[in-house]
Amino acid sequence: MEHISVIGAGTMGRGIAFSCAVAGLSVVVQDIQEQGLTDAKEYHKRHFQKRVDRGKLTEDQAEQLSGNITYTLSLEEAASKADLIVEAVPEILSLKIETFKKLDASASEHTILATNTSTMSPTEIAAQTSHPNQCIALHFFNPVPKMKLIEVICGLETSEETIKRAFAFGEQIGKECVKINEFPGFAVSRMNCLIGNEAMNMVMEGVGSIEDIDKAMKLGLNHPMGPLELADLVGLDVRLRNMEYLHQTLGEKFRPCPLLVKYVKAGYLGKKTGRGFYHYKA
Ligand code: NAD
Repeated sequence: MEHISVIGAGTMGRGIAFSCAVAGLSVVVQDIQEQGLTDAKEYHKRHFQKRVDRGKLTEDQAEQLSGNITYTLSLEEAASKADLIVEAVPEILSLKIETFKKLDASASEHTILATNTSTMSPTEIAAQTSHPNQCIALHFFNPVPKMKLIEVICGLETSEETIKRAFAFGEQIGKECVKINEFPGFAVSRMNCLIGNEAMNMVMEGVGSIEDIDKAMKLGLNHPMGPLELADLVGLDVRLRNMEYLHQTLGEKFRPCPLLVKYVKAGYLGKKTGRGFYHYKA
C-alpha cells in the first residue's frame, strides 16, 4: 500500500490518517465539513509536535511526514488514487452504504474499500458495490496512534487476497490484526459496549459514584481505563448508536441505558463537548 484515503476526519479518521502518515504512507483526508478538515490539520500538527518533543522524530522528519497528508472536501478526488480507502463517517448504516456506493464509482479497480464501523455488517455495506470481494471492515481503536489492534472483519464475499492485503497494511503501520468473522459488534465492541452500558446502569441505580465504578474496574480488573471514562472518550453519541444497533440485532441485553440516552439528548457527548460522565476543561 502506498496511497491511503480516509473518509471522515473526525475522532477516528484523523487518528487513522496520522498513523498512516507516520508510517510513511501518503494520505488523503476527506470530510464534508471544512471544520472537520481544519480540526484534523490541528490534531496532526499537535501530534507530530508531540513526537518531536518526545524525541521520536526530528523536526525534519516530522515536517516531511506531515507533508504526506493532504486534505480535501472532494470524495472523488480522495478516491481516485487510493490503494486503500478507510471510511470513518458516523455509525449510520444508510450513510455508510451511500458512501461506499460513491467510493466504488470513483475508485480504481484494485482499491480496497474498508469501513471502520464498530458494529455493523461489512457484507451489507459492501453489497451495492461492484467489487464486494474487495470490501472489508478494519476496526481501529481510539486513540488510534496509541492502540495496537485492528479487528479485520470479513464480509460474506471478502476474498482471501483482500484479507491478506489488509493484514499486510496493518503490519505496515505497526498494528496487530485479528481476523473476526462477521457478527454484530464483532469481538471487542460486543463485549465493551455491554460492560460500558452496565456501568451506566449502575450509576443510574446508585450502586456507586462514577469515579468509584471506574476505579473498581481499573484496580479490580486491571483495565487501563474505567468504562465511563472510556465511553466519554469514544463519544456518548457514538456509543449510543452502537448500542442501538446491537439492541436491534442482538436483543434485549443491549438495550441502551436510559441515562446514556438522556445525556445525548442534553448534548453531553463526552470529552469532545467538555461534558459527559465527567467534566472536561476546554
Ligand atoms: P466523528 O463524529 O468524530 O467523525 C465523523 C466525521 O465524519 C465528521 O468529521 C463528519 O463531518 C464526517 N462526515 C459526516 N458525513 C460524512 C460524509 N458523508 N462524507 C465524509 N465525511 C462525513 O465519529 P468517529 O468517532 O470518528 O466515528 C467514525 C466511525 O468510527 C463510526 O463508524 C464509529 O462507530 C467508528 N469508531 C469510533 C470509535 C470511537 O472511539 N469514536 C472507535 C472505533 C470505531
